This record gives sequence, C-alpha cells and structure tokens, in this order.
Amino acid sequence: MFESSYLEISKTALKNNLKYLRGRIGKDVVFSSVIKGNAYGHGIEHFLPIAEQCGVNHFSVFSAHEALRASRCKSKGSDIMIMGVIENDELEWAIRHNVSFFVFEMDRLKATVKTARKLKKKARIHLHLETGFHRMGFESEQLQEVANYVKKNQKYLEYEGISTHYAGAEGVENYLRVKTQIERYNERVNWFENEGISPKYRHTACSAAVLNYPETIMDMVRVGIAQYGFWPNQETFMKNMKNELIESVQNKTQFDDPLKRILSWKSKVMNVKEVDAGEFVGYGTSYLTTRKEKLAAVPIGYAHGFSRSLSNIGKVLIRGKRARVVGFVNMNAIMIDVTDIPHARKGDEVVLIGNQKKDSISVASFSELSNHLNYELLTRLPSNIPRIVVE
Ligand SMILES: *Cc1c(COP(=O)(O)O)cnc(C)c1O
Repeated sequence: MFESSYLEISKTALKNNLKYLRGRIGKDVVFSSVIKGNAYGHGIEHFLPIAEQCGVNHFSVFSAHEALRASRCKSKGSDIMIMGVIENDELEWAIRHNVSFFVFEMDRLKATVKTARKLKKKARIHLHLETGFHRMGFESEQLQEVANYVKKNQKYLEYEGISTHYAGAEGVENYLRVKTQIERYNERVNWFENEGISPKYRHTACSAAVLNYPETIMDMVRVGIAQYGFWPNQETFMKNMKNELIESVQNKTQFDDPLKRILSWKSKVMNVKEVDAGEFVGYGTSYLTTRKEKLAAVPIGYAHGFSRSLSNIGKVLIRGKRARVVGFVNMNAIMIDVTDIPHARKGDEVVLIGNQKKDSISVASFSELSNHLNYELLTRLPSNIPRIVVE
C-alpha cells in the first residue's frame, strides 16, 4: 500500500557527518547524540540503530518518555541521558536502568537520593548549572547547599556530569553572553572540585558551541542538528566554511559541504490535469491561471507537516525540475504547476526535501520561504510518515 509520502534516512550521510564532527572534537571526547524531538523528526527508532552502527554509544533525550523509547531500541552498551523532564515517580525506572539525568533543583535532588536509597543503587546525575540561559539550572547561591547535600549522600550518587547550556552560541550578537557563561561554568566546576565533587564529564557544548567556541568541547559534547547534516544557522556556516567557499570560487570547483543532509522527503504525483487561462485554482481566489496550465496534485498537506505558509511559494522537484505550489496548501494535498515539465505524469516521484537528478531542495530553503528554522520544520515532521533507512 502506498503511503502518501515517506522519509528516507541516509546512513552514508550520517557516517560522513559523524566523521567530520569527530575531526572537530578530537578522538577522546564523548559524542552524545541528541535525539530529542523524535530525533529531530528523523524517528528515534530509525535513527538510533544506524547511529550505533556508525559508532555512537551515548544518546541525549529531553524526557523520560523519550528515554524509554530509546532504551527499547538501543543495544546494551549504549548510554542514555535525560536533559529535561523526569517526574519523581519515573526516577525509579531511570535509576534501575542506569539512565543518567540532569538535576537542576533541590526537589529533584532529594527525590533522587530517596529513590536511590530505596533501590540500594546509585543514581547517575548531572548537576545542571545556571550560567545565564535562565531556563533551568542551579543558581550560584544554591551551590553550597547542593554540595553539602550531595556529599552527605554520596553513597547514593554517581557524579556523572556537571553541565550547562548556552544562550545562542550560533550568533555573534551573543558573544559576550556566551563568553560570560563559559567563564562562570569553569569557575563553578573548579569550586565543586575543591569541594571534592569531581564529575566524570564536564559538558556544555551543543552543535553551535562545538563549531564556534572550541573551548566548550571539554569531556563530552551534546550534538543535535549538525549530526543530521545542518549547520545551526547561516552565520555558523559562513564562519566555518569561509575559506573553503573562497577556495572553491578561486579554483572554480564545486563547494563540497562537509555536512550532508541525511533526510529526504518524497511523494508521488496522484493526478494531472489541464486548466484554461483565467481560472482560480483550489479553495478561494489565491491563485489565478494566466495561461493554459498543466497542474499536478500531490498527496501532501499541512496535516503531513507541509506548512500552509508555503501556499503559492513552496517548490518541489519533479523529473529533476523545480516546480511551484499553486493555491493554498490543503490539509492533505497540494497543486503543482508542471506546465513547463511536459512529460510529468501520474506516479512521478515528487521530492519535497532532497535531491533529484542534479537539483536539490534543502530544508533550509524550504524554511526560509516559510520563516521556520530547520529545527522547527524537522521536528514538526509527523511521526506517522513512514521512514526508510537507506545506505
Ligand atoms: C537540544 C539541546 C542540545 C543540542 O542542540 P543542537 O543545537 O541541536 O546541537 C544540547 N544541549 C541541550 C541541553 C539541548 O536541549
């Protein structure tokens, strides 16, 4: 049975990205693959096993629920770290299964100790510090209380990590703020070490921090967007690839992006029809034909994550050519102007994101049109679109 569209996940592209990132972080640093948001839309159950096949054995999720999903498809040697929500009654599951988690408030710290005592098993915790993001993390005034409590209960705790998160390492406008965060983090880790609390991993860096502030790499990095083949933003791309871009212009060679998108999104033409000049297409009056046009219907709509804001502007590839969405994006369908692709017919492959012949549609160009970030567009890809892993 043909689903209306499907996502292809390329193992070769992932392997390429991991190799590039390994080169950037060095060989001794732990690479934690961030798979929150359903592995940025790629599908936890599809992505995790191929990441393991490429040598990854540490995964970061947001919630205990995602941790459970990851634990069901991971192999024995892989670690899971929860960076966000875990209810007090889920702590028991996490501790039993050796899942480590961020602790950023006293209530969770106390509940952790209580649960670990009951289970007679150490909890693996990451003390998450507030350094200027102002979302969560222990404030500087709390640190003495935290240290005292942690030391008193060290029988029940493993100091897996001390962490923080940066407030916009992708943009130079945040330079001072991020630099201040790095300084505060280092000071506070030193302070903890003087108190006799030495974490196994000091970890602070997301993709943008790895790429723009190499001093944040430390013992472990938490990389999401870059492993999926996307630069965190255009500025980070330019900053990192400036020399390569100049070289490729001077040598008249094709610029080869070291990060390759691992995801493609494909569908098929379901119907082709001709419409006379001067007709409105689809609901209402948003599109008027100006010539005799050939239109293809594709079974993709906003219900599948193809944003309604791509109405009349989105592009897709058919027979290696770019073609435009005409009229509103419907719940389950779009109309594409294929007047200039005379051989287009029912059953033709339609590429919404990815390559076809020599052309390519990137999530970035897609999201620039509709003002979404890569992150948002990816994570909004519905979980019920079939995902297919390809070599
Ligand atoms: C999402 C997240 C990351 C990864 O961010 P990317 O920009 O995708 O690399 C790292 N750390 C924390 C705490 C996160 O929430």
